[in-house]
Amino acid sequence: MSQRGGISKPILPGQTVGIYGGGQLGRMLAQVARRTGYRVHVFTPEDDSPAGHFANQVFVAPDTDEEAFRRFANSIDVLTFEFENVSAASLEWVPERVPIRPGPQVFWTAQDRGREKAFLQKYGLPLPKFATVDSLADLERAAQVVGLPAVLKTSAGGYDGKGQAVIRDSSELANAWQAVQERPSTLEAFVDLACEVSVIVARDVWGACGVYGPIENHHTNHILDLSVCPARVEAGVAHRACELARKVADHFELVGLICIEFFVTAEGEVLVNEIAPRPHNSGHLTIEGFAVSQFEQQLRCVCGLPLGSTVQRTPVAMANLLGDLWFPHEPNWRALLASPETYLHLYDKNSPRPGRKMGHVTVCATDVERAALTAVNARDSLGLPWE
Ligand code: AMP
Repeated sequence: MSQRGGISKPILPGQTVGIYGGGQLGRMLAQVARRTGYRVHVFTPEDDSPAGHFANQVFVAPDTDEEAFRRFANSIDVLTFEFENVSAASLEWVPERVPIRPGPQVFWTAQDRGREKAFLQKYGLPLPKFATVDSLADLERAAQVVGLPAVLKTSAGGYDGKGQAVIRDSSELANAWQAVQERPSTLEAFVDLACEVSVIVARDVWGACGVYGPIENHHTNHILDLSVCPARVEAGVAHRACELARKVADHFELVGLICIEFFVTAEGEVLVNEIAPRPHNSGHLTIEGFAVSQFEQQLRCVCGLPLGSTVQRTPVAMANLLGDLWFPHEPNWRALLASPETYLHLYDKNSPRPGRKMGHVTVCATDVERAALTAVNARDSLGLPWE
């Protein structure tokens, strides 16, 4: 691990937090950082980025642009991230005085499913049965070892179900190999899911952990649709998920945030699905539902400050707002905002597209059923015709 991620003088208000990436996760981090009195510099290839709107300075360039990246890196006091596909080469351009949090190792691991699974397996974390695949012949062998049905997933670059193919029987192997464009992949046993949960761990420079969750996640077309917290799982399952997530953060000696997504099987087993060393969509409900949000916690950890409180204030639900809601007409904001318990977050993206994450709504209530129902009803009301 980079020594630079270790203990150092805290970075304080007035100093500059560098955010690698310009999306909505960076936007919500930037909002908290600005509120707290930090300066924020964002590095992004996007001209008009959600995070850029809250930055003091935006560096617009691809991360292969060494000159631009060096200017950015020289202008900041700490570097953190809002996505995991960070180019390792660019981190070499960060001056020694600037801590990189989390450190490069966790990104290198999380960028490749095969590496990620090997890391988790090495530390004894429970995973679905899997095998790595580099050719059709490999896939045929892997199907014997892993068993079918199974899911073939590209090792790099897949997200929200992209680059995945379900294989029900051996007649589908060749098609699946085409579907992943013959790229290095991982074959994973198809899990009989009772539900999916995530746990977000914030780990500070001294190794103390704050844990959010488990959060119960429901997907539609592989994209997160609805999250509720606390998850409706048995206490033993909740405890195990939190314990495993903390272990992952410790094994990486992480400084910052990491989200661990789990499969909970029909038998109550808890298996790691994937990890993301950054704030997570399922953690948006921490903004209103918890004393200190995932974003504020990220800020505290990467600035070398002690953790904030992870006490949950109230049961909470979050429904994603995808670009689909912009068709056939502009969402009916008046209808949604008529609901007094609804917190609306929009990411200020200018071109809504089906499947694109445009915002979310959060609802706090006396129980998660009520919170979820109110959030979904509020979202549905966006489809009502404008008067
Ligand atoms: P991923 O991108 O790996 O998180 O996969 C996206 C979604 O596909 C997951 O959230 C699950 O709902 C489903 N999925 C992925 N892998 C499996 C599996 N091995 N068994 C069952 N469902 C899966």
